[in-house]
Amino acid sequence: MSGTTEEAIDYTKAYVELEHTLTVPQILSELGVDLSTRRIYRPLGDFMVYLNQRRFKVIELRRRYIECFVKGWTGEYRVIVDLKRLHYYCSCPHSRIRRALCKHVLLALELYCYLRQEIGDVAEFLREYLDRIVEW
Ligand SMILES: [Zn+2]
Repeated sequence: MSGTTEEAIDYTKAYVELEHTLTVPQILSELGVDLSTRRIYRPLGDFMVYLNQRRFKVIELRRRYIECFVKGWTGEYRVIVDLKRLHYYCSCPHSRIRRALCKHVLLALELYCYLRQEIGDVAEFLREYLDRIVEW
């Protein structure tokens, strides 16, 4: 199972960009989330791979709002994060059925930080929904 995941990632493309420091894991650890025991960092670690492989499609981006498509390894999902209204939506089963804050939302937040550098609003949002973050 993990073998197919490894095949899908082209590390040669992402190698240089992987030096980029991720913002969301930094915020989460400042909020007291132990990233070493929770399997959150790994999918976020693929952020630059997602970028390089054009797995993000931004629909709308403005202050405190991002709407995008995230093409994961198993499907493409629509993600909306409204930092002003503290609202999120993802069309994946984790989010729709369990109302969980899934990895696609975290990836969209990382993308938002990368494109807009408005980190304070993201930290506030994550503090609000800390208990809804799912591990995978
Ligand atoms: Zn999702």
